[in-house]
Amino acid sequence: MDQEGFRKAAHAVVEHIIEYNSTLPNRPVLPKIQPGYLRDLIPSNAPEQPEPWPLIQADVESQIIPGLTHWQSPNFMAFFPALVTYPSLLGEMYSAAFTAPAFNWLCSPACTELETIVMDWVAKALALPDCFLSTSSGGGGGVIHGSASEALVTTMVAARERYLRVRADAEGLRNGTMERDDRIAFLRGRLVALSSDQAHSSTQKGALITGTRYRSISTSLSEDLSLTAPRLEEALQQCHADGLEPYYLTLTLGTTSTCAVDDFASIATLRSQYPNLWIHIDAAYAGAALILQVYQAQYSQDIGRVSDSFNFNMHKWLLVNFDASCLFVQNRNHLTRALSINPSYLQNSFTESGLVTDYRDWQIPLGRRFRALKIWFVMRSYGVEGLRTHVENSLRVGETFTAMVVERRDLFEIIATPRFALTCLRLRPDVAAAARMKQRQVNEKIYMSGDTELPHPRSDRIASLGASDTGEGQMLKVDAQSNLPGHDGAEQAS
Ligand code: PLP
Repeated sequence: MDQEGFRKAAHAVVEHIIEYNSTLPNRPVLPKIQPGYLRDLIPSNAPEQPEPWPLIQADVESQIIPGLTHWQSPNFMAFFPALVTYPSLLGEMYSAAFTAPAFNWLCSPACTELETIVMDWVAKALALPDCFLSTSSGGGGGVIHGSASEALVTTMVAARERYLRVRADAEGLRNGTMERDDRIAFLRGRLVALSSDQAHSSTQKGALITGTRYRSISTSLSEDLSLTAPRLEEALQQCHADGLEPYYLTLTLGTTSTCAVDDFASIATLRSQYPNLWIHIDAAYAGAALILQVYQAQYSQDIGRVSDSFNFNMHKWLLVNFDASCLFVQNRNHLTRALSINPSYLQNSFTESGLVTDYRDWQIPLGRRFRALKIWFVMRSYGVEGLRTHVENSLRVGETFTAMVVERRDLFEIIATPRFALTCLRLRPDVAAAARMKQRQVNEKIYMSGDTELPHPRSDRIASLGASDTGEGQMLKVDAQSNLPGHDGAEQAS
């Protein structure tokens, strides 16, 4: 494809994207296809001869779009929001055009420098304490990862290495000795990562990847599913009694199931007793709410007091498309000490000068995408004010929805305190039982009449609420997001 071909094709793609967005409200959210549908439509070998772009693009509409779940549909309410806006898309276009896997500063200085600047912008917009800024005296800073899970496992490696180093140093074991290596290998087998039973599974997966153990700490509905200091202390003591060494704890701001928030303030009071325990805050979804003063006042100071690292996904609720997971650390040296390896082909005078950031040492892969551009574009296009308006609108939709559910208390009950834009509800058990009974009678009637096609047992009403698995009596999670097909989110959210 030459320049002229690209111009034509790109214009056609932009038109198609706009048309797709404007027709989204009328498209069913879920695809009506069977597993393996694409095998019947696409040849099993790549074409030998080049194909013209219009033919390829036509297949997007006829073969790909029918197999999509439309996350950007205003009717999509499952899982969590994964928003996209036009400024963000433009960032992706430039990023792809520049394709500069800027693992070192030298690879493309603008990529690194813009990332450092926009991460400070984001930290300030969320009113994170100054210790997370790149300019902080303690060595803080932010880096963009692809996902919350990736950010978490990266900090786990830093935490593990810090823990083992501190322990070996405290025992007076000299670097480079067999004795130290043996001791570290022994201790590594005793390390355990902790989180509440409400935390996202990424902590358990991170423990798998880092070769350490994992224990979850139970929470209770009476404490709003939040991890508290007494429960944590009990778990820590139990670990020690079992000969285990807790080195990592995930706290959550907005758990996946109900948006519960762990008790940062009470847990912060334990910090001095466990200085070697790395505390990470996973705020994958709800971190975006810190754009609002009301949440900043509630959480920001405690986040600084309790955590070594904090992470949230702009690609969930803050108008930047996947992927843009922002990780902030209080001391970047823990990451770089754990992850920096310097083969000769990566060495250069700028790195040696100590004046530049090489983000390869803050992450697992070497190469990296130029994600800062889309964050820069979104923050400039909407302004922090626009982002606030967007989040406020989502919260208002959530409140309205909660009020509607409360009004129908004859049918529904809310089963966890609504938080952020999330309402968790279920059909009242007596209503569910009656519906099941009625359904059974209908099914029996159909069976007696010889019709084997049983109707779907879910009520239309529940299905139209849109969650992923919403059989009667099961929990339904409704995340009141402003999905913004074809519109600028901050202006249109309602
Ligand atoms: N943490 C929480 C609280 C989540 O809700 C999720 C996903 O929904 C994740 C982590 C995982 O996010 P990612 O897909 O970015 O790894």
